[in-house]
Amino acid sequence: MLYDLIILGGGASGIFAAINAKLTYPTANILLLEKNAVLLTKVRISGGGRCNVTHACFEPKQLIKNYPRGEKELLGPFHVFGPGDTIQWFASKGVLLKTEADGRIFPQTDQSETIIQALLKEAHRLGVIIKLTEHSEILEHNASCFILRTKKDQIYQTINLLLATGSSPQGYQWAEQLGHTIQKPVPSLFTFNVPTSSLKDLSGVSITPVRLQILGTKLMQEGPILITHFGFSGPAILKLSAWGSKYLHEQNYRAQLMINWIILSKESAFAKLQETKILFPHKTLLQENLFNLPKNLWKTFLEILGISYKKRLVELSVQHVKNLAHKLTEDCYQVEGKTTNKQEFVTCGGVTLKEVDFKTMQSKICPRLFFAGEILDIDGITGGFNFQNAWTTGYIAGNSFFKPHYQKS
Ligand SMILES: Cc1cc2nc3c(=O)[nH]c(=O)nc-3n(C[C@H](O)[C@H](O)[C@H](O)COP(=O)(O)OP(=O)(O)OC[C@H]3O[C@@H](n4cnc5c(N)ncnc54)[C@H](O)[C@@H]3O)c2cc1C
Repeated sequence: MLYDLIILGGGASGIFAAINAKLTYPTANILLLEKNAVLLTKVRISGGGRCNVTHACFEPKQLIKNYPRGEKELLGPFHVFGPGDTIQWFASKGVLLKTEADGRIFPQTDQSETIIQALLKEAHRLGVIIKLTEHSEILEHNASCFILRTKKDQIYQTINLLLATGSSPQGYQWAEQLGHTIQKPVPSLFTFNVPTSSLKDLSGVSITPVRLQILGTKLMQEGPILITHFGFSGPAILKLSAWGSKYLHEQNYRAQLMINWIILSKESAFAKLQETKILFPHKTLLQENLFNLPKNLWKTFLEILGISYKKRLVELSVQHVKNLAHKLTEDCYQVEGKTTNKQEFVTCGGVTLKEVDFKTMQSKICPRLFFAGEILDIDGITGGFNFQNAWTTGYIAGNSFFKPHYQKS
C-alpha cells in the first residue's frame, strides 16, 4: 500500500503533526511509525512528570529570544501557531493549563499523563494509524516515493515523509542520506562543574541577579545563579550553557567563568565602598551589607580576602576596598566539566535550518520530505520552549503535506 504520509517518530512533534494532517486532510492515509512500545515517552517524563507544555510569552518577537538556535527561523512559525494557540488547543480538548509565577505553563492536574491522553485521544478519534515497535532501519527514495524497511522486515511506501525522530542518530543519518547537512549534535542546558570552587560550602544559596561571562568570548548572561556542591547552576548558568553549548563543547567544557555578583563596574563598586566607609565609619562589615548579598556569601568573600568581618569600615585599607571591589565584580572560576540539569538533557544540533522552508517545514533539497521538532537544529532554554517548538513545527508540517506537490482528488 502506498501511504499519503508516513510520520517517523511518535513524540510530541510527530503526534501533533499527525493530528493536524488528519484534521486538514481527513481522507488521507496517514501512518505513524514509532520504534518504541509506547508513544510520547519524553512528554511523560518531562517537567518532572508534570510536563511544562509551553511558556506564557505571547509576543513572537520576545518568544524567539529564548532559542539559542532557531531564533530567526521561528519568528514566522510562531505567528502561525504560538503559545496562545497551544493553550487554546489543549483547552478545546478539555485540558486546562495553569501558568506559574516564572511563566512556565503546566496542566492543572500537574500530570503529564493528562497531556498524553488528550493527544492520543485526538489521534485515535481522527483515525491516525499508529504502529508501535516498528523500528525503521532502511530508507530508500525514488522519484515517486519513499520506501522504508523496518527491523521486522516490513516494507512501507509513502508519497510524503515526515522525520520527527527527535535527536535519534538514525534520523540525522537519513536526513544526510537525502542531501541535508547536520549540525553536530552536542548537549545544551547543563550546569557547570567547578571542582576548585571556594563556595561549595554555600551549596543551596541563590543570588539574583548576577552577570556571567565566559572569558575570551562574547558569551554573557544575567539572572539568578545557584551555588551547588559541585559548582554553579540556576537560570543564568543554564542560559549561558545553551548559548555557549557549541563553544563549550569545543573547549571540552573547560573555561574561565567570571561572575559579577552585583552587576556594577569595578570602579562603581570601589566608589560605593569608599562612600559607605565615610558615611558609616563605625559600622562593622557584617552590619553594613551594602550590596544585599546573602550574609553567608558576604562573610565567605571577606574570609577569602583575609578581612575580618568584625572590622569597622574605617579600618578598611584602600587595598582592602580594591580587593573587595574586584571580588564582587570580576570573580573568576575555572569550569571543568558539566552536569545534566535534572535529567533534562536537550540536544542542540540537527538538520541545518537554512535547508528547510519554515512556511511548510518541507526540505528545500528533497521534495516531499518534511521535518518537525528536535531533529532540526533548534533548541530552547528551559521553561517549555522546546515543546512549543515541537507543537509549532508539528502543526505547520501537518498542515502542509499536500500543498506543494500533491492534491488529493
Ligand atoms: C527528561 C526531559 C525533560 C524535558 N522536559 C521538558 C519540558 O518540561 N518542557 C519542554 O519544553 N521540553 C522538555 N524537554 C525537551 C522535550 O522533551 C523535547 O524537546 C521534545 O520531546 C522533542 O519532541 P520530538 O517529537 O521532536 O522528539 P522526541 O520526543 O524525542 O520523539 C522522537 C520519537 O521518535 C522515535 N524514533 C526515533 N528513531 C526512530 C525510528 N528509526 N523509527 C521510528 N521511531 C523512531 C523515538 O522513539 C521518539 O519516540 C525535556 C527533555 C527531557 C529529556
